[in-house]
Amino acid sequence: MKLKISFIIAGGLSTLFLAQVMSSCSSAKHQPQTSASTSTAKEEGPWKGKKASVVLTYDDALNVHLDHAAPALDSLGLKGTFYLSGYSGNIDTRQEAWRAVVRKGHELGNHTLYHPCAGGTPGREFVRWDYDLRNYTLTRLVNEVRMTNTLLKAFDNKTQRTFAYPCSDTKLGDTAYIDPLRKDFTGARAVRSYMPTLNDVDLYYIPSYMINGQTAEEMIALVEQAIAGNKLLVFLFHGVGGEHGLNVSLEAHSKLLKYLKQKESDLWIAPMTEVATYIKDKKSS
Ligand SMILES: [Zn+2]
Repeated sequence: MKLKISFIIAGGLSTLFLAQVMSSCSSAKHQPQTSASTSTAKEEGPWKGKKASVVLTYDDALNVHLDHAAPALDSLGLKGTFYLSGYSGNIDTRQEAWRAVVRKGHELGNHTLYHPCAGGTPGREFVRWDYDLRNYTLTRLVNEVRMTNTLLKAFDNKTQRTFAYPCSDTKLGDTAYIDPLRKDFTGARAVRSYMPTLNDVDLYYIPSYMINGQTAEEMIALVEQAIAGNKLLVFLFHGVGGEHGLNVSLEAHSKLLKYLKQKESDLWIAPMTEVATYIKDKKSS
């Protein structure tokens, strides 16, 4: 009898322990072994079980990314992708800050060495002759992009990476310049206001919404649209609270991030390489 009682007590304790472990490993809202968890499983979406995926990307290695964007992401435990061009001054002067960004789990993406764009059209007056894509050879461009991977690897030691087309220019003459670089990258982000479904993603032309002056409500509406349609939504930011002509206010950026955090049960929010790898695996399975 004594034996039986101690068995029951031990069994009860182990059940309690197991319940505590399972509870701490799962979302606080979803207790295991309940009907609620069964219904959650039924609603599993295509994006790692979530309804939609959101990738937060930041271009051009700005100081505000180190001073505003990364801390805002870190305060909520969100991870972003920072597309760096090798020539950017703060990669030299703020090396430790970029290394800290890597340690927090953010991705450094390749945005070329000198940010070449095709000049000669209205709005492209900022393009310097030396770095005008029209004056590049394919060899020079490919070599500079690969050299940027080497530079970024010195920061994060990563071998998987994604690319972002400067100015969303994808061609050198008639050549899609990513073609000789496909094996160097898991994916490449362009600029195009479009949300693909998982099956619809072109990994070397991933669309993104360039944010410039939108309100938090406008950006949140995009997130809601992504959730409703099981889409991939990529945000592209430049300035965050200033430093760039293309800008989002600190308040709007912060409000968006808080909304994303609240919606985490519906959203898979991850750096681009992680999402691109997932898409690639799903498509090949
Ligand atoms: Zn750029």
